[in-house]
Amino acid sequence: MITKVPFVDLNLQHQPIQLQLQQVIQDVLAKGDFILGQALSDFEVGFAAASGTEYGIGVASGTDAIALGLQACHIGTGDEVILPANTFVATLIGVVSAGAKPILVDCDPKTALIDLEAAAQAITPRTKAIIPVHLYGQMVSPSQLLNFAHTHKILIFEDAAQAHLAEREGYKAGSLGIAAAFSFYPSKNLGAFGDGGMVVTKDAEVAAKMRRLRNYGSSQKYLHIESGTNSRLDTLQAAVLNQKLPYLSQWNSDRLTIAKMYDRELAPLATAGIIPMQNQSGTGHIYHLYVIKIDDSCPLERQQLQTQLTAVGIQTGIHYPIPCHLQPAFTYLGYQPGDFPQSENLSKQILSLPMYPGLTNSQIKEVITAIHSNVNSTKKGDEVK
Ligand SMILES: *Cc1c(COP(=O)(O)O)cnc(C)c1O
Repeated sequence: MITKVPFVDLNLQHQPIQLQLQQVIQDVLAKGDFILGQALSDFEVGFAAASGTEYGIGVASGTDAIALGLQACHIGTGDEVILPANTFVATLIGVVSAGAKPILVDCDPKTALIDLEAAAQAITPRTKAIIPVHLYGQMVSPSQLLNFAHTHKILIFEDAAQAHLAEREGYKAGSLGIAAAFSFYPSKNLGAFGDGGMVVTKDAEVAAKMRRLRNYGSSQKYLHIESGTNSRLDTLQAAVLNQKLPYLSQWNSDRLTIAKMYDRELAPLATAGIIPMQNQSGTGHIYHLYVIKIDDSCPLERQQLQTQLTAVGIQTGIHYPIPCHLQPAFTYLGYQPGDFPQSENLSKQILSLPMYPGLTNSQIKEVITAIHSNVNSTKKGDEVK
């Protein structure tokens, strides 16, 4: 079976700029500054500025950006950190790695973002920070978040791994709190040729501590005033990212155009239980993912729809099929099925449609037509191919 509409296609991004990518890779080879080289400092400055912050510290992954970023903000042992149950598991792993106690809360079923009313219920005297996850490319409301953090006297540490250059209410993702974590995993809106991540912050002390933590705890070669780890963004990856950064806002707006087309064409299926996640931030949503919900009123089940789309060459994804609190690795946290009903419900109903810059109008129509015809012709329990 041929894939007519892949879930992502990174070649479309890279082909038009292939020559310049090859050139900068060769430049790094010629210079040999593979570790903490010039292209890395350039990218750290460029990306921090693009995100409305002061300092950028490149690390090996988004997961490390969370784990080390929290430590750089002095969030760790004895502290509670509030985060959504409905996120990629790396958010939770970052908190655990930093030594803090994760406190999970449910999400808003319309957006899949953290429910701040639920978060308010989870505040205790030990709460040190909240991690809003700007899931699918949409920021958690900055005004509500800032108000929340102010009221409860806690820090905001953003997980912006899916939100490069996202905006809402005039704020940029990464600029809201003490610090923020980004990922440059290849399929993120800004992706490297391998793993990568960054912490951004406006706080000079957090930045200095971050630089030590990623580099064996050292700020001066062979002198270690504290322990740390080895987690640096490769100069080679930074050189690639430097070339891609100028295209990012165009790529993001291409995604928005695709999302608007999906929104418009899927709207008639709302009465049949096909509900796209709500965009509450207008043009600031960067659509890392385009996610629909197949709810109980739909004549068919999520699995049926996904199988049938696959059968006609349309790839889809599920982000994410198991909420964090039900992951076997974290049963020790003591959560049970039923603790976060909205997150659990979404995990069973959501489907991510193909979304990437370069997706053609005819491919988008192909997806839309396939969904319409399946919703109209299949019933729950029908045999699927
Ligand atoms: C991708 C992602 C991460 C982890 O980033 P890696 O670079 O894969 O380690 C963390 N949080 C969220 C929400 C992500 O999507």
